Amino acid sequence: MADFEHIHDVVIVGGGPAGISCALECHESGLDVVVLERDERVGGQTSLIPSPVYNYVAGFFENGEAMRDELEKVAQLFLTDRIKTSCNVLNMDLANREIVTTRGTVKGKTIFLATGYRLREFDLPVPNDFVDDVLYRSGIHRESLRGKPVVIIGGGDSAVFTALDLAEYCSHVTVLARSSTFRARPDIVSRMNHHNVIEVHTNTVVTGLFGHEHLEWVTAVNGAGAFDIECVKLIAKLGYVPNTELFVDQLENSRGHILVSQDFSTSIEGIFAGGDIVQPGYDRVAFAAGSGMMAARSIRCFLGHTT
Ligand SMILES: Cc1cc2nc3c(=O)[nH]c(=O)nc-3n(C[C@H](O)[C@H](O)[C@H](O)COP(=O)(O)OP(=O)(O)OC[C@H]3O[C@@H](n4cnc5c(N)ncnc54)[C@H](O)[C@@H]3O)c2cc1C
Repeated sequence: MADFEHIHDVVIVGGGPAGISCALECHESGLDVVVLERDERVGGQTSLIPSPVYNYVAGFFENGEAMRDELEKVAQLFLTDRIKTSCNVLNMDLANREIVTTRGTVKGKTIFLATGYRLREFDLPVPNDFVDDVLYRSGIHRESLRGKPVVIIGGGDSAVFTALDLAEYCSHVTVLARSSTFRARPDIVSRMNHHNVIEVHTNTVVTGLFGHEHLEWVTAVNGAGAFDIECVKLIAKLGYVPNTELFVDQLENSRGHILVSQDFSTSIEGIFAGGDIVQPGYDRVAFAAGSGMMAARSIRCFLGHTT
């Protein structure tokens, strides 16, 4: 594939805020950069943000879609054909800085890894009939759940906010947390514990999904034994995992997060990482953009540029 033939100064994996920020800065510095993004559009998780975004200093966005549109506009304006969308990275040899993608093999003098997070999936097998009854996001389903019972699993902010939100629509909301305490903010946990529509069980896991054609109840188990809970939907709010399986074994890491130095270099020379997947880090757009910018500076130094 013609445009994949030569060795780029920088190959960026992931077209979210971290990857695009790094690409813009590298491009402005005159580096030959290419961005590999598996989705059809850049923007990463920004498009999933359901609420107004007011914690990013560059502006106020009505929701994540609006933020993604702006990010995409800037990326298309300045990076043009340096962005390869629908380009899934399948394999990486980081020591040789070689990347195998669905569109060919790419080589770089440096690599910036910015593959972000994805939702942690519910780990029990779901019978085919109930596939549509296990949800990861509930917002658009609120009205159809009016007057019906639901089960939510998870112990973080997202599980508790979802419970409080759905309690205004559903007949009954049961929250099941695997651990003994909630990781969520204490103020919202207290609101949940005092809500008359919400029932909470800690130290509890779901063991089965049952019903005729549609989900009607789940079984759960805790120290007191097994019990059934009536519900029409199971909403999984189990947090996020870093998309690092492709390269985590090649780099120093902590539970899937890539360990980086202050300059966002990793344990292999010439390999940099940023955004959600790094530690220390913070899963926010501002951090992702800042880490991409900082990594671009480090890449420039690594390549011997003095300015
Ligand atoms: C529901 C929700 C609400 C949020 N709300 C806010 C908020 O209000 N404020 C805030 O600051 N942050 C918020 N965030 C977090 C913010 O969106 C992330 O921190 C930020 O997008 C991380 O940027 P990133 O570039 O590291 O990763 P991502 O945005 O995840 O981008 C990574 C990109 O890498 C691509 N990729 C992954 N694997 C491959 C592969 N093998 N080949 C090619 N491409 C690949 C992905 O397709 C993706 O486009 C929210 C996130 C979610 C999910």
